[in-house]
Amino acid sequence: MMNEETIFSKIIRKEIPADILFQDERVTAFRDINPQAPTHIVIIPNKIIPTVNDVTPEDEAVLGYLLIVAAQIAKQEGIAENGYRLIINCNRHGGQEVFHLHMHLLGGRGMGWPPG
Ligand code: 5GP
Repeated sequence: MMNEETIFSKIIRKEIPADILFQDERVTAFRDINPQAPTHIVIIPNKIIPTVNDVTPEDEAVLGYLLIVAAQIAKQEGIAENGYRLIINCNRHGGQEVFHLHMHLLGGRGMGWPPG
C-alpha cells in the first residue's frame, strides 16, 4: 500500500479541527470523534505508516514512544490506576478504517474480553 495521506495528516497539520491533547515532532494525540468509552484518545506517529504490516525497523523508536505518550495521557486523564486498553487495529479483520497507524487509548469504564 502507498503511504497515502488520510484525514489524520490534516489533523496533524491542524487543517481540520481536533481536540489535540499532545503534539511534538514525532507524535500527535487527539480525542476520537466517535468515542467508544468515556476516555477515547487516538495516538499516532506523525509519519505515515499505513498499517502494522508496513512497520520497519526504523519505526522502532517512534512505536515505543507511542506507549510512553499513552501512559502519560492515561495519567493526565485520571484513568491510569483503574486501567485502560490500548488497541492497534490492522486491516479488515482488525477493524481498521483509517490507514495511518494509530493506537487507541480507551478507558473510564470496564471492558470485556475477548473483544467482539
Ligand atoms: P480504526 O477503526 O481505523 O482503528 O480507527 C479510526 C478512528 O479514528 C475511529 O475510532 C474514528 O472514530 C476516528 N476518526 C476518524 N476520523 C476522525 C476525525 O476526523 N477526527 C477524529 N478526532 N477522529 C476520527
